Amino acid sequence: MSQRPQTILVIEDDITTIRTLYDSLKPVGYRLLGARRAVEGLDIARRERPDMVLTSIYLPDMTGRELAVMLRSDTRFIKTPIVALSDNNATEERALSLAVGMTGFIDKPIDAVTIVEHIQYFMQGGQEGNFKNTQELETVRMTYLRDVVSRLEKRIRELEENNKELTAVDQIKDDFIRLAAHELRTPLTLITGYNKLLQDYPIFQGLVEQDHNASTFLEGLTESIDRMQSIVEEILTASRIITNRIDINVRDMDLGAIVQEVLDEFVFVVRERRLQIHFLRKDWPRIIYADPDLMRLTIRNLVSNAIKYTPDGGHIYLNCAFNGEIVQFSVRDTGIGIARDKQIGIFKRMQQINNVQLHSTSKTAFDGGGLGLGLSICHGIIDAHHGKIWVESEGQDRRALPGSEFFVEIPVEQPEMPKRRLHALMAQ
Ligand code: ADP
Repeated sequence: MSQRPQTILVIEDDITTIRTLYDSLKPVGYRLLGARRAVEGLDIARRERPDMVLTSIYLPDMTGRELAVMLRSDTRFIKTPIVALSDNNATEERALSLAVGMTGFIDKPIDAVTIVEHIQYFMQGGQEGNFKNTQELETVRMTYLRDVVSRLEKRIRELEENNKELTAVDQIKDDFIRLAAHELRTPLTLITGYNKLLQDYPIFQGLVEQDHNASTFLEGLTESIDRMQSIVEEILTASRIITNRIDINVRDMDLGAIVQEVLDEFVFVVRERRLQIHFLRKDWPRIIYADPDLMRLTIRNLVSNAIKYTPDGGHIYLNCAFNGEIVQFSVRDTGIGIARDKQIGIFKRMQQINNVQLHSTSKTAFDGGGLGLGLSICHGIIDAHHGKIWVESEGQDRRALPGSEFFVEIPVEQPEMPKRRLHALMAQ
């Protein structure tokens, strides 16, 4: 029966050392695993349970000693030889390594002639050095602890500094997006105006009557301008919500009427894509207190997603339940569904499940993808109305079409009416 080869995990980032170890140990039958960083080494060790760990003392992310502490605290590695690969043979350095549970040392540069013998010694239970008494061991451990804590403090300061920088960069990015969208708005308004002038211009109207292509071009142009305008508005709304600069105007509003208005916007695409909408106006409350524009935006985003992620011929159901205090409505579709592990993330900004290659600027093309802002906008709006938004779906499946149902729940009356600042938001 062939014996399982003994496995050695080498955690080292110096290429010459790695090469010498491989060249010397592989030919005599050891199985070698390698890692260049301590955390990677810990993962491999926990997964592969090597018979020995050889680690450099100075690794990019942790010291070899810290790694030894981590391994020794795991009962599976209590007896595993953990040997330091070290080019510092000062007595205090070595004492530190032994104090944290390392078995011994192999000097760098590696001596190819003696390495195999050395490895065998540790494999067979060999141990280097020992402390004269517990007092000596205690003193060394304290020195080690002080080093660890001071390294930790340095790391925390670095992380705090990095965090500040990231926050500043994030702010610059948000400002840039907002400014870019603002800048685009002005020429877009002009383009819209010229487009309107063109449509009303008698010579052009004559041309449209004579040549069918001219009206097709005009329709294409108008559609693209509308789409671009809604993208710019979507970015501006998201940016206002992110930066807490949106006012909500709560007043009494007819929720069913708003849903009807939104559905009217999608009449053509619904017809074109043979979708069936199920909506009973009588089930929806005539009066709730909310911001009508923001509720319209929420419903529009949910309906446009339902359209976008449902194949032609599918169904979309708009349901509402209302108990006098809380109104709960939902948009359910018979589309591709959403994987369970993605169901929370999609409410955070710029989260798209699908490949960005599928990205399309269309709000209604099947499976087109978008900016990934719609649901985070909805989340921000509903949060500001003291409500909840969530999704239920059995998972994503483009064949079985399990569908998704987005629920919104808001209190019928809002505590601080009529006007207050929108707070809390998407970035969490
Ligand atoms: P997008 O502009 O990409 O549609 P959203 O924030 O509206 O951005 O949605 C985020 C992601 O959630 C989408 O990219 C999509 O993967 C998923 N999603 C949203 N609504 C649905 C739905 N009704 N069915 C399936 N997936 C959906």
